Amino acid sequence: MTRIASHRGGTLEFGDSTPLGFMNTARMMLDEVEFDVHPTMDGAIMVHHDATLDRTTDRTGAIATLSEAAVRAAVIDYSAGSHPISLAELCAIYADSAVAFRCEIKPGDDGLAYQDLVPRVIDVLQKTGMLDRTTLSSFLVETLDELADATDRPLLWLVSPPVLRQLGHQAIIEVALAHGIPEIGVHIDFADARLMDAVQSAGLDFGCWAAHTAEQIDKAFALGVKVFTTDRPSLAMAIRDRKQSA
Ligand code: MG
Repeated sequence: MTRIASHRGGTLEFGDSTPLGFMNTARMMLDEVEFDVHPTMDGAIMVHHDATLDRTTDRTGAIATLSEAAVRAAVIDYSAGSHPISLAELCAIYADSAVAFRCEIKPGDDGLAYQDLVPRVIDVLQKTGMLDRTTLSSFLVETLDELADATDRPLLWLVSPPVLRQLGHQAIIEVALAHGIPEIGVHIDFADARLMDAVQSAGLDFGCWAAHTAEQIDKAFALGVKVFTTDRPSLAMAIRDRKQSA
């Protein structure tokens, strides 16, 4: 029962973190939608992958140094002319959807955790009724510690390939256990049965991210990971349906 999470609303199908991607994902027969959040300089929380607008929109600048209006004015590439939305707007899109949230708390453009973003994200999720359907994730252990203090919701540590290589399997597991982190996610290309067994034997959940090709999606299903994120949710659903009817 591997769960499928539409990454950034399904970037390769609908553009990166676009309103259309999130609206379509809300109606799909899949388990979760993954997204990332950043604060603006005037207190808004926007749904966008990168810390800056540079790579994926027609504007530039770090979101944390811009006003909400300036971020909203950006046109997202390959989005039919649409603009970044706020976390509250995303919550409204999913109010009547069966798809659960996988919310990643991003660091700033300097790679460091934003001040006070965690409690503000939790507050929006709580007020919109989405917190009970949300798993929260970060690459930063510091941010996961902050999350653990702020909420009882499930947490996920996204372990980057360099960190996985540098710490090694056992040290990754020890860090997760020491910080009370119940789930580890690694890049699909660095996942294997040995790592998954070690993580699960320690009582932790194991998932993968960035399964975008048919081969990567097949691998995630073959391993039987708990959950994987994909930029191609329609492809992942088609492969899942084919496997189930086989
Ligand atoms: Mg993410």
